[in-house]
Amino acid sequence: MALPVPSRKMTTIESAYLLEVVKGLVLTISHVIKNIFDPDHFRTIEYPDMKKPMAVRYRGAHRLLTRPDGKVKCVACMCCPTVCPAKCITIIAGEDPDDPAEKFPVEFDIDMLRCIYCGFCVEACPKDAIRMDTRIYEINAYTRQDMVHNKSYMVNLMEGKKPEAEDVYRANPSTAPAGYTFDEKPIP
Ligand code: SF4
Ligand code: SF4
Repeated sequence: MALPVPSRKMTTIESAYLLEVVKGLVLTISHVIKNIFDPDHFRTIEYPDMKKPMAVRYRGAHRLLTRPDGKVKCVACMCCPTVCPAKCITIIAGEDPDDPAEKFPVEFDIDMLRCIYCGFCVEACPKDAIRMDTRIYEINAYTRQDMVHNKSYMVNLMEGKKPEAEDVYRANPSTAPAGYTFDEKPIP
């Protein structure tokens, strides 16, 4: 139920507005002076030339990990699409031609417009096949379809690059997600 809020009657000085205008100007000018003499005080950064430091536990875009033979680690067990609260993971499973007992994702899509970056998919994965340790936050595209990250995109996202979070986790292991293991072949 909405509660009525009684309006306060302005005093004569307030209703003249002059003092209030002066008070506003003093506040604005004090901020201008602070920003001139103390640039660190600025609340804005010159993005993209400058980047804001991310929180140590920031996750970023997903990547899919591969085995030494180049195949994706994912066995299309469907744990991650089942646990995903945003229902943004779509996997089409197929049989591995080299091992009929094994499945693999023929297609693996994540709709990044629906993802809420909760990390449940990473926690649910029994194969450590999907990680959110890239700390990539510039996830953008010109079309909605391009915001759907597919298997090839996620496999190659960190090609030749070390996930930025690794350094953070190595420096401060308590920030690493539970069970986090470092890449088998760390990229120098
Ligand atoms: S981070 Fe959360 S919302 Fe995004 S794909 Fe994983 S489980 Fe779904
Ligand atoms: S939980 Fe892991 S192994 Fe299972 S489908 Fe998702 S990424 Fe693949």
